[in-house]
Amino acid sequence: MSITTTSQLIRGYEVVIGLETHAQLSTASKIFSGSSTQFGAAPNTQASPVDLALPGTLPVMNRGAVERAIRFGLAVGAKVAQHSIFARKNYFYPDLPKGYQISQYETPVVQGGVVEFFIGDTAHKVHLTRAHLEEDAGKSLHEDYAGQTGIDLNRAGTPLLEIVSEPDMRSSAEAAEYAKTLHALVVWLGICDGNMQEGSFRCDANVSVRKPGMPYGTRREIKNLNSFKFLQQAIDCEIQWQIDLIEDGGEVQQATVLFNPTANGGRGETRAMRSKEDAHDYRYFPDPDLPPLVIASDWIQRVRAAMPELPQAMAVRFQRDYGLPAYDALAVTQSKAHAAFFEEATALCKAPKLVANWMMGEVSRRLNAEGRDIGGAWVRPKTLAALVTRIVDGTISNSGARQVFDALWVEAPLPLSKQPTAVDDAIERLGLKQLSDTGELDRLLDELLAANTKSVEEYRAGKEKAFNALVGQAMKATKGKANPAQVTELLKKKLG
Ligand code: ADP
Ligand code: MG
Repeated sequence: MSITTTSQLIRGYEVVIGLETHAQLSTASKIFSGSSTQFGAAPNTQASPVDLALPGTLPVMNRGAVERAIRFGLAVGAKVAQHSIFARKNYFYPDLPKGYQISQYETPVVQGGVVEFFIGDTAHKVHLTRAHLEEDAGKSLHEDYAGQTGIDLNRAGTPLLEIVSEPDMRSSAEAAEYAKTLHALVVWLGICDGNMQEGSFRCDANVSVRKPGMPYGTRREIKNLNSFKFLQQAIDCEIQWQIDLIEDGGEVQQATVLFNPTANGGRGETRAMRSKEDAHDYRYFPDPDLPPLVIASDWIQRVRAAMPELPQAMAVRFQRDYGLPAYDALAVTQSKAHAAFFEEATALCKAPKLVANWMMGEVSRRLNAEGRDIGGAWVRPKTLAALVTRIVDGTISNSGARQVFDALWVEAPLPLSKQPTAVDDAIERLGLKQLSDTGELDRLLDELLAANTKSVEEYRAGKEKAFNALVGQAMKATKGKANPAQVTELLKKKLG
């Protein structure tokens, strides 16, 4: 195992990437008002006077949002600041009626921390600069009214945790893997629902290139990437664009860009939206409406005590307690739902490696093809355990098990009451039961040996091939229902 420090060069350039990720915190109400954060309501039905920025209204901090920030800070090994400050970030936009966004600037609630993940068997480490609490803005609706723009303030005031990484990443693949790890973590911690279609988790990617050994180049920031695929594609496009520009004698200007995945015949394009503001353009200053955010030590202690087991710790435990290889342990701890699925099935069939194999193989193949997650697997842990049990006890072969699995998946959803017997029913119905009645197999093999004296002689004369031919014959005679291992064993005994 190694930690990456070097990077692949692209056309002689090293790529430098830092991500700013907005995770919407899963509180029922907004960060500074009591309105609901529920997604999808009719425009402006969830906008209180505070969200509308009516004069005289005052923000009140949502405790749940702070608690979620603490949980995140502890999970990434960051410092949770016991004293942090809300600041006003001033800018004009129609969906921002106050004329400023409440955020944290100089003193964020979470400081430092690190996110670790594997690509293949290489360990990667991305340091975090900070994570701060802030409110989301509203939305402009361009499609609903011809020639006009509507403003929906339902999203205004939704709590966000902005997680800022150091410029530690050196490839688009690494950035995508970092984002996936972070996504899995915030969902695992229960602080964000992770729904990327609804914008609950979105990334801005800062990208620059440089010749090896040179100082960092000027970055451009690709805004609002809400899928891992687009994130990676957008960074790849941007890298080529910057290198083309530099190779043509140009100089990268700091800018904010948008990614259009369908431009250039599907190859995608990053297009400048505006030249980038500098921090001083925002005229940040401490918000006089909000006192400093003070977090008592015992609150941090309580949150620490209630922390769930984290995915990395769980993966280590699975390697130790179930003897899983590292790769399998990571795969079955990719989400809490995966881990629960794995542990439930393993407890029933006591064959952890086989359960992991099936989860990484057939189960995930089916889920990917149907665009579902593990919670939507038709074959539930109980059923998978029953299937694995029948492989282990020799009732069915691996290929037979795959047929049973496919049949159960297609028939599903099975009512829970039927699941315990579903596997045995399917084995019966599909006629996949292996010939494990040794009496019958015995008789069959005797017949076979009597009819194949030539092969028997050849084998006794030392020809291994002749033995394989006999096994093949036996499998054929039993229409594939014999257990090859059992056939081999019995034949060896008979041929002595
Ligand atoms: P801002 O808030 O104005 O976007 P920051 O300095 O806080 O600026 O940086 C934001 C992000 O840009 C961070 O994730 C950081 O790692 C990344 N970053 C900074 N410099 C570079 C660079 N030269 N190339 C790529 N990313 C960078
Ligand atoms: Mg930024």
